Formats: sequence, structure tokens, C-alpha cells
Amino acid sequence: MNKRTIAILGATGSIGTQALDIVSRYPDRFHAVCLTAHNSSEKLFELVRKFRPACAALNIEPESIPEDVKFCQWFFGPDSTVEALKASRAQDALCAIVGIAGLDAVLTALDGCERVLLANKEALVTGGDLVTARAREKNVPLLPVDSEHSAIFQCLQARQGNPVKRLWLTCSGGALRTWTKAAMEHATVRDVLKHPTWNMGGKITVDCATMANKGLEVIEAHHLFDMPAEKINVVIHPQSVIHSMIEFDDGAVLAQMGMPDMRGPIGYAMGYPERLPYDAKPLNFYELGHLDFAAPDHDRFPCLNMAIEALKAGNGMPVIFNGANEQAVGAFLREHIPFGRIPEVIDHALQAVAPMKINTIADVYALDRAAREDAENTLRRLSC
Ligand code: NDP
Ligand code: MG
Repeated sequence: MNKRTIAILGATGSIGTQALDIVSRYPDRFHAVCLTAHNSSEKLFELVRKFRPACAALNIEPESIPEDVKFCQWFFGPDSTVEALKASRAQDALCAIVGIAGLDAVLTALDGCERVLLANKEALVTGGDLVTARAREKNVPLLPVDSEHSAIFQCLQARQGNPVKRLWLTCSGGALRTWTKAAMEHATVRDVLKHPTWNMGGKITVDCATMANKGLEVIEAHHLFDMPAEKINVVIHPQSVIHSMIEFDDGAVLAQMGMPDMRGPIGYAMGYPERLPYDAKPLNFYELGHLDFAAPDHDRFPCLNMAIEALKAGNGMPVIFNGANEQAVGAFLREHIPFGRIPEVIDHALQAVAPMKINTIADVYALDRAAREDAENTLRRLSC
């Protein structure tokens, strides 16, 4: 069998390393020809030794490159990811960079690859219609990796031309699901990073605790599946066993289920349409006993509605939401602000930054900069 070549952008992260776990289980099937990271040089050197890519990239140039990884072509600096991706001529790109920092890479992947496997939800939230238009224009499938969107994508295959009435996105509720509003105010970084069901990178784990993540996912679902915000419901489901659902006009609901393990949706996108077995823990319904569901509590988790309202308002409001959120989460992780201030930073930017019609990627970056500036001003006020 001819090996499929794949670029893993954000190879040192939670999604990147789990994708490489799938690659190592299928050495006859995949060759990871391009591996990139921001500054985790030692980790990337290890991966290069193991997976022997043709190209590798680091945004921050390390002091030296070990002799035994010099066989591959190295790229450094702010454009290194896209340069390495282009040079590798990978058939598929798994976009697993965190934040809007991955937007250029997603667009480059859509220009040059046969398929784009998308984990980097912020690229779709900010790039929005421009990203989906590029995918259509280039006729490149955008395969979802986010577990909820992978679930919906899988359920949609049973649709047979019928209209979808509603999407149901499930949500674990994050590390603070059962906390009171008063206790949440001062949740520490340690408290927040203890996610109950998923083991993920720092930024998304904080986003789960504020439910900004589910807001980003509603916007992501809107773009991937062309559904208006009004037809996307969020339901709290603490066990994270139902990954998401679609509802039809006759009341039938299809769900995709499995134990929470990101290698499921990552492997599904990599092997699509074939399923790639790995050492998945089987779902044991006898042990599960019951599944729980609840409506989201918008009073304790205001970020969810802020994102949904931003989507409804359009005019770049999701870009403002995302930029302010990225700044606020960074400040919380550096312990500059208490957890309870994150929604305030976002809300201020949504009120203060002038929305604008997005026509180009340059517009996206301009609005992102304005949102971050506003967030930085709020953060300075809050840390005095
Ligand atoms: P991590 O923080 O674990 O990894 C991020 C990766 O991106 C690392 O390889 C990092 O390199 C690289 N990176 C960070 N900043 C930059 C930058 N400015 N330029 C280039 N590369 C950069 O994140 P996750 O793997 O958790 O998440 C990745 C994406 O997937 C996010 O958009 C997230 O929302 C989404 N996602 C993640 C899930 C999960 O289970 N983790 C589930 C669903 C979606 P370095 O190590 O050098 O910093
Ligand atoms: Mg998700």
C-alpha cells in the first residue's frame, strides 16, 4: 500500500502527539512528512528522531540542532510552519496549532493539500466564511477532529438527504461544573486544569472551565455544517460518552458514542472513510449504568452565551470574542488575573471594539489586534 503523507502542525501538543500515536500504529499507512511546533525544541527533536519527517519547523530558533536530526529540512521563525508545510508537499495536514496563530497554516493547507484535518477550531471561528469558501473553491474536504464535530460528521452520514432539524453539542461542563459562582471566582490554575474526562492542552482546558470552548464549538459547528446558531443546542453531559447528536424532523435523534479518547476522532479523520482500530477502551454499558444531561447554567458560565450572541451578530464579533478570550486565558494561566475575571475581559472587548464586515484575512487580523489591545487594557486595569 502507498503510504499517505501527513503534516502534523502542532506536533508537540496534546492533539499532535495523539495523532502521532496513530501514525506509529500504522507505519505502512502513514508517513508524517512534516512536524512543527512553537518552541518545544527538545520534544520536537525526539519526534523527528522517531518519525523521520522530511521537514520540521520551530517558530523560536533553538541555539543548536543536534547532529542526528539534521537529516531533515529545518525552518525557523514566524513563517516556519507554512514554509515547512509547503516544502513537505504533504497530502494531508492535521492542523493542531492552538489559537488564531494556526489560521495561516489552515489556509496554506487548503491551498496545497488534498485534505485538511481540523483540530484548530480558533482558525475556523476567526477565519469563518473565508476558510470555508477557500475549502469549497479548492475542493478540499475539511475533516473535523474536534470530538463533537467528528460525532456530527459521522451521524450526518446516515442523513440520506433528509433535512437536519437541530444539532446537539454535548459538553462535559469542565472542571468547575459543580462549583458555586462564588467559589469559581477564585479557582486556581491547578483547579481548572483538572479536567474530569479529557486530557488536553492548557488553553482548551481553561476554555472548558469557562465554557468559552463550547461557544467556540457552536461557531465551529455553524461553519462546518452550515447551521444557524438557533439550530445548535448545547447540553451538559458530564460523562462525555455521547460526543454529539443530530435531530431530524420526525423526532429521531442520532448520537455518536464512545469512551472519551481523542484518538477516536483523530484516527477517524486520518483514515476517513475507513475506521482505524487502536487500543480504545470499549464502552461498557453495564458499567456505565446511566447517562446524565442538563441545560447549561448561563449565570455561572456567561462565556457560552457571549460566543453565541457574537455568532448571531456577525460582523467579526466572533473574532473579537476569540482574541479577547485568548488574551484573558493567557493572563489567567500566568496567574495575572483570577478565574472570575475572564468573562469580564471578553465582555468589555465585545462592547468596546467596533465590529466590521470581514472581507479579507487582513480584516480578521486587524480586528483580532483591536480585540487584544482592548483586552490588554482591561487586564492592566484588573491587575492593578
Ligand atoms: P496544545 O497546547 O497541547 O498544543 C499546541 C501545539 O501548537 C503545540 O505543538 C505548540 O507548540 C503549537 N503552537 C502553539 N502556539 C503556536 C504558534 N504561535 N505557532 C505555531 N505553533 C504553535 O494544544 P491542544 O493540542 O490541546 O489543542 C490544539 C488545537 O486543537 C486547539 O485549537 C484546540 O482547541 C483543539 N482541540 C484540542 C483538543 C484536545 O483534546 N487537546 C480537543 C479538540 C480540539 P509548542 O509545544 O512548541 O508550544
Ligand atoms: Mg470539543
